[in-house]
Amino acid sequence: MKPDASRLPTRRLGKTDLEVTIVGFGGIPIQLETEENAIAAVRRAYDLGVNFFDTARGYTTSEERIGEALEGRPYIVATKSGDRDPDGAYQDVLRSLQNLRRDHIDLYQLHGVNDDEDLEKVLAPGGALEALRRARDEGLIAHIGITGHRRETLVNAVKQCDDFATVQVPFNLVETEILDTLVPLCQERDVGTIAMKPVGGGNFTNAPLAIKWCLTQPITTAIPGMANVREVEEDVAVARDITLTPDEQAEVDRMTSELDQRTCRRCRYCEPCPQGVQIGMLLHGRSIIRRMGAERWKEWGAIDVIASADLCTECEECLPKCPYHLPIPDLIREHVAYYRTIPELTED
Ligand code: SF4
Ligand code: SF4
Repeated sequence: MKPDASRLPTRRLGKTDLEVTIVGFGGIPIQLETEENAIAAVRRAYDLGVNFFDTARGYTTSEERIGEALEGRPYIVATKSGDRDPDGAYQDVLRSLQNLRRDHIDLYQLHGVNDDEDLEKVLAPGGALEALRRARDEGLIAHIGITGHRRETLVNAVKQCDDFATVQVPFNLVETEILDTLVPLCQERDVGTIAMKPVGGGNFTNAPLAIKWCLTQPITTAIPGMANVREVEEDVAVARDITLTPDEQAEVDRMTSELDQRTCRRCRYCEPCPQGVQIGMLLHGRSIIRRMGAERWKEWGAIDVIASADLCTECEECLPKCPYHLPIPDLIREHVAYYRTIPELTED
């Protein structure tokens, strides 16, 4: 099928001259698929008119698969490096170019800048930003962006540094705080907003409706992770008409109220637990498994995280610290019961 990007609405990506489709391709899940399925998913998205593909050096095979699937085709690619050493970050740019089979990358992002200390480090002389400026000066990348999970840190990033053309941040039915501060600031500074996790890292039911709601908000683009052709077709279809019907709005309200009390936002205000329970990671593990796979989480220490749940005395000291009033001990029990069903996480 011939690509026809005109069939999907686009928005300008901040201060860049890039017109990106309002739904972009989130490149995390394809690393868990067979190569054949992954390439089919990427090509289907392209054929349906998606022109914006987001990946990362940290997503194992994702860059290579997108590079192979779209070699020679015109599309806008964003990738990222989590390396804080400038030489390492520069080498990551070169590796990304090779993996993506491109002579330049449209948007290169500093990956996962999640607190002010890290921000200070990447912005300081000799920090990773210098590597991206050098790559931009050399024409290897066109624009620089930043990604992270804490809106306060991203607000500081936009205020402190004019280099950032985009911010990428979680945004979905129950993570809406960026609408108060970060989004208005980005609009004022002409910085593009890329919504990651529009379906809560894959944990929400009715993903298309959750994505559609995101697209009604003042963001530039949403990049749901898409694992296969079916998900691509469902997710992309919503971009053709983002008007919410009254029934859809009612369902959005119902989902929001249900998810609000069940969804951990990974803010970690509830920590530290006096008993050493790793609350944030326990409640985030399901999303990691969905996006990166249980094996990967195990490599990152899942067994110790899950074991920490046994230390919970149900003292409830964490409850008043959670701004979302989540029933933390109940959620921990539910998550651990799920982890115990996964063979990779039960054997040591
Ligand atoms: S349980 Fe509450 S306070 Fe703790 S990380 Fe999740 S949302 Fe934040
Ligand atoms: S209820 Fe459990 S997780 Fe929360 S503070 Fe007490 S021991 Fe820690």
